[in-house]
Amino acid sequence: METNYICPACKGHLNVNDHIVLIVRNEKKQQGLVFLHTEMGNFSSHMNSSLEIKKGEVVEFFCPYCHTNLEYHKDETSLVKLQHEDATGKTSQVIFSKVYGEERSYHIQEDKVESYGEHAKHFQDPEWFLK
Ligand SMILES: [Zn+2]
Repeated sequence: METNYICPACKGHLNVNDHIVLIVRNEKKQQGLVFLHTEMGNFSSHMNSSLEIKKGEVVEFFCPYCHTNLEYHKDETSLVKLQHEDATGKTSQVIFSKVYGEERSYHIQEDKVESYGEHAKHFQDPEWFLK
């Protein structure tokens, strides 16, 4: 099934095969490319070994096309938001944590929210994102 992850700002397609390609910047302002897995709940990632990111570090994610910071502002600021388009063209939102090593992501569709990762339980209220 062909699905795409899309930059909310420029609508550029961010995925190549099984990976979402983004620019990442650590707290020391070092930049690099990061590959995130497209499968929801798979938190494996790849980046160049010269880029040092410690567990618990808050990193910034940018679109490789338009360089927009993909952070998502709600009460919770340590999140990133991408658009997702399934094989039928239906769009939804994918939100994940900016904290390196924190396994927490959400797939928000019209009628339901699916959460993934051991840290996702942080939000007890399933409607938090609507507020
Ligand atoms: Zn973009």
